[in-house]
Amino acid sequence: MSLSKQYQSVREEIQRATLRALRKEESVKLIAVSKTFPSEDIRTLYQLGQRDFGENYVQEWAQKTLDLADCQEIVWHIIGHVQSNKTRLVAEHAHWLHTLDRLKLARRLNEQRSHHLPPLNVLIEINIAQDSGKHGIHPDEMLPLAKEVLLLNHLKLRGLMCVAQQTKDTSLIREQFKQMQALLQELALLSPDIDTLSMGMSQDMLLAIESGSTMVRIGSAIFGQRTYSS
Ligand SMILES: *Cc1c(COP(=O)(O)O)cnc(C)c1O
Repeated sequence: MSLSKQYQSVREEIQRATLRALRKEESVKLIAVSKTFPSEDIRTLYQLGQRDFGENYVQEWAQKTLDLADCQEIVWHIIGHVQSNKTRLVAEHAHWLHTLDRLKLARRLNEQRSHHLPPLNVLIEINIAQDSGKHGIHPDEMLPLAKEVLLLNHLKLRGLMCVAQQTKDTSLIREQFKQMQALLQELALLSPDIDTLSMGMSQDMLLAIESGSTMVRIGSAIFGQRTYSS
């Protein structure tokens, strides 16, 4: 199937799942995860009206921001782990960071974000699978970190992000998504800007939409299998 056909089919799937969950159609945003795919693919989707794109690797993404400088309405979401020495590009060119997991990172981004730009939207990444090999913080660390982040003027805390456990056990995935939904409600008591739950990938997006996700991050179902060359 062509890229544009796959894209349309994912959009329709999201739309159906959203309506089935008795949610408003515009309540779930599709983030097209374009990591490892060329800038031309992003441009193809941009021409079809897609605006939100997710990237994992700061260097790769930096090149794409140059290739696509003319696509002025692109909204860039950084969804990969960010090392402290790579924050400047994120602070200068990203619109969203989904993987905030430590105060040091927040403080650096806050210092480096230009006063001429709107605040960087950030999501706290929760290690909901409690897997030591995964990034993100323990749920108990959420409120202490959030309270500090809310003091930083050039960041705007919008909510939470997670990667659920990779398993065929859908009840386990659903349970993790429900925990995220409960955590978001707790977080929302701290600030009126909290409105975003980034969860759901190609394999589990339907479960995520049922459980209140407001951003699904979809890569392979749109662009095809990734091959990593090093
Ligand atoms: C790569 C990636 C995605 C997209 O995954 P697919 O399974 O290809 O849809 C979503 N979220 C994160 C954090 C990723 O790294």
